[in-house]
Amino acid sequence: MEDHFQNPLRDIVLQKMYSGEWAGTMCLTEPGAGSDVGALKTTAKRNADGTFSIVGTKSFISGGDQDLSPNIIHPVLARIEGDPKGTKGISIFMVPKIRFNEKGELGEPNDIFCSGIESKMGIHGSATCTINFGDNGKCIGYLMGGERQGMPIMFHMMNEERQAVGMIGASLAGAAYLHALDYCKQRIQGQNVIAMALKVENAPAVPIIDHPDIRRMLIKMKSISEGLRALCLLCYFCMDNMFSAMFSKQLDPNANKEELDKQKEYWEGMIEILTPVVKAYATDMGMVVCDLAVQSYGGYGYCREYPVEQMMRDQKINSLYEGTNGIQALDLLGRKIGMKKGANFTNLLNYTKDAIDEAEKIDTLKPEAAIVKDALTACGITAKEFSKMIAVTPFVPLIGACDYLNCLGDALVGWLHLRIATEATKKFFDPSTSEQDKSFYRGKIEGAKFFINRITGLVIPKLENLKKDEQSAMNIPLESFAGA
Ligand SMILES: Cc1cc2nc3c(=O)[nH]c(=O)nc-3n(C[C@H](O)[C@H](O)[C@H](O)COP(=O)(O)OP(=O)(O)OC[C@H]3O[C@@H](n4cnc5c(N)ncnc54)[C@H](O)[C@@H]3O)c2cc1C
Repeated sequence: MEDHFQNPLRDIVLQKMYSGEWAGTMCLTEPGAGSDVGALKTTAKRNADGTFSIVGTKSFISGGDQDLSPNIIHPVLARIEGDPKGTKGISIFMVPKIRFNEKGELGEPNDIFCSGIESKMGIHGSATCTINFGDNGKCIGYLMGGERQGMPIMFHMMNEERQAVGMIGASLAGAAYLHALDYCKQRIQGQNVIAMALKVENAPAVPIIDHPDIRRMLIKMKSISEGLRALCLLCYFCMDNMFSAMFSKQLDPNANKEELDKQKEYWEGMIEILTPVVKAYATDMGMVVCDLAVQSYGGYGYCREYPVEQMMRDQKINSLYEGTNGIQALDLLGRKIGMKKGANFTNLLNYTKDAIDEAEKIDTLKPEAAIVKDALTACGITAKEFSKMIAVTPFVPLIGACDYLNCLGDALVGWLHLRIATEATKKFFDPSTSEQDKSFYRGKIEGAKFFINRITGLVIPKLENLKKDEQSAMNIPLESFAGA
């Protein structure tokens, strides 16, 4: 396949973008093609000089237009005239907002027009635009990679984006928790529960962090946000190992290339499974944390003067873009778990065994180790049962896909908490640990115990529930959805 996106052009664009001089976007979505990217209508017509004329409208494009950078590079998904329908016929083009010469000097505008800016619930710092390409038939694009390779090329970028979106979900959760913690230490309201029970007269009002319900919210926020961070880091750890195997193969002349290929494949497989979980679980649970943060502030949390209101609005986008969380769940159950006859998923489950064995040897963590082990085993069993059900009662796994992904997240994050608690227990009982550090490790242990007992502990009953042959969501006739 000929690559019309010549190297000199690529070098100019990459240098300008890596230096931060020019900005970039990702142009997939169209008014009629959201989750169903294959339905796109943007076309690419061959020109005699090897370039393409691009015509179409892309919607919801982050950073689609702005005056912060002198140029914007749009990677645009489009179908070359005559190519097949669906995702198989999609190619990807480098489309600059302003054309440029071989020296990277800017020339004429490239017939790209921002026809609208979305008025959004959150992330107001990012302009989300509708962009018209080629209204006047003069929008030039350059093919990236081969023809009809648009999806694999875009997905290379999307997978990293999905991990990054998960990390944003975890980060917003962490920030919302810390704001809530600060507020709950300062806000004075109500009396201590023991003083109330004992009917102590004139008992002083206390900071709300004294109340058990506020404690519940805070430890839930702490344990979820710290667990989500660990989940994201696990995925990055797998990426580091994958790249390490790739680079060692290229750079070390004495390397065992066969062994390094196997290692690369192993870590790549772990990333395949973890990516939809990181993206969807970290953003769904990140939203739970932001919601709890608002709740712990009471009415003030609902007001713009306090930061958690913005965090909750900003968090919501993370479950929507880069493939909605519903699409991530279908990707996990329909594609990723079954990849290589389930080998990647089996590798992930096997990978958890050493840390569980270690925790089982610590008396104070034995019950938690058992909960995590059983939850992970149940996720493996349910995945097999779901794959059999697809042929018989497909709606059961399809209705359950999102909840299954979240159960797997609850089990994996429980396992990560077990690892954290194992290390924290060692440090806590180490005589050389300072009192201040002991408080830190105690926090890790209590957070882990809360998460594993209260959240991972619910995985098995939730999975049993998901497997029930209960299909009211599909049985209900459309007209019966109407209200009272
Ligand atoms: C602020 C913001 C920034 C964005 N930035 C970009 C960007 O930079 N570049 C870009 O290309 N796009 C961008 N998007 C678009 C975003 O990726 C899409 O909104 C998203 O992919 C969903 O598409 P849709 O909105 O058309 O929803 P739809 O595809 O219409 O989905 C609606 C609902 O139906 C569900 N659904 C759809 N199909 C299925 C199915 N087969 N099975 C089960 N459920 C299904 C979805 O999960 C969702 O709940 C952005 C969106 C927003 C809001």
